[in-house]
Amino acid sequence: MNEMLNLDDYKANCPRCDRKRYVTRAAVDVARADICTECFDVCPACNGEEYTFDRNPQGYSFVRNCPVCTVLRDRIATFNDARIPARYHAHGATLEEFQTDEPDPKGKARPVGNLPRVRLRLYKWTMGFVPGERGFLLHGEVGTGKTHLLAAVVRHLTLEKGIVARFVEFTHLLSEIREQFDQGRGESAILGPLMDVPVLAIDELGKGRNNEWQLSVIDEIISKRYNRGLTTLFTTNYPLDALPSHVGDTHSPEFRRNALSETLRERIGERIFSRLFEMSDFVAIEAPDYRKRKTDP
Ligand SMILES: [Zn+2]
Ligand SMILES: [Zn+2]
Repeated sequence: MNEMLNLDDYKANCPRCDRKRYVTRAAVDVARADICTECFDVCPACNGEEYTFDRNPQGYSFVRNCPVCTVLRDRIATFNDARIPARYHAHGATLEEFQTDEPDPKGKARPVGNLPRVRLRLYKWTMGFVPGERGFLLHGEVGTGKTHLLAAVVRHLTLEKGIVARFVEFTHLLSEIREQFDQGRGESAILGPLMDVPVLAIDELGKGRNNEWQLSVIDEIISKRYNRGLTTLFTTNYPLDALPSHVGDTHSPEFRRNALSETLRERIGERIFSRLFEMSDFVAIEAPDYRKRKTDP
């Protein structure tokens, strides 16, 4: 039976999917994965039957789900359910491809800020991930690649490890909760899935105008997840805590603007903020805004 599972030789060099057997694309607003029709239109392990025959130790044959395409289809469905934003479906969408270098004036590659180290740290975390693992919070200025890295982590967890995960943008999450409450849906129907999913990735924590009620809902989600030992991942553009008060002219405009902006602690409140410390490692990204880098070579 197992000779059929040796798919390495099967159209080994599929130019479309690079032997991954799936491809990703931008659907309306989320990234979507599909089976690669170039090399996997018909599953070579079961000839598209989705079931294979196997024998138990006594020699009796039995039918079981095809171990190749069933797993692949499950992972694709898991990725699609994660709802990663459409713009992260390609162009360095994986942790392996994520660009941490840029050309210097002579055209030689040089590392961008501390991105190589951050990527390596997330890569190790993702490869070794088992459900319940302590999460992380990526913090740094706008345009440093935090959301991109978070999306790449969720992509790997779902497509390569088959772990159920959900990606949410903080302000969308709040408006979604509000809308559903307004429609009279019960609290458990709304919050249940967010409290149960093995990995929840919350992008742009603290963004938007948040009232007491919204923050209490977020607190409930995060606290319940923590108590259940579920992994939660975060990014935020806000400085974590108060910066030195002596912010003088010697500092860059970005630094001064940052120092004057609200801190994450102020935005989400003391209770949620201290919870974050208990459940995640804080990872600082120090890199220039990629949009400025592109226009200013
Ligand atoms: Zn292919
Ligand atoms: Zn199959």
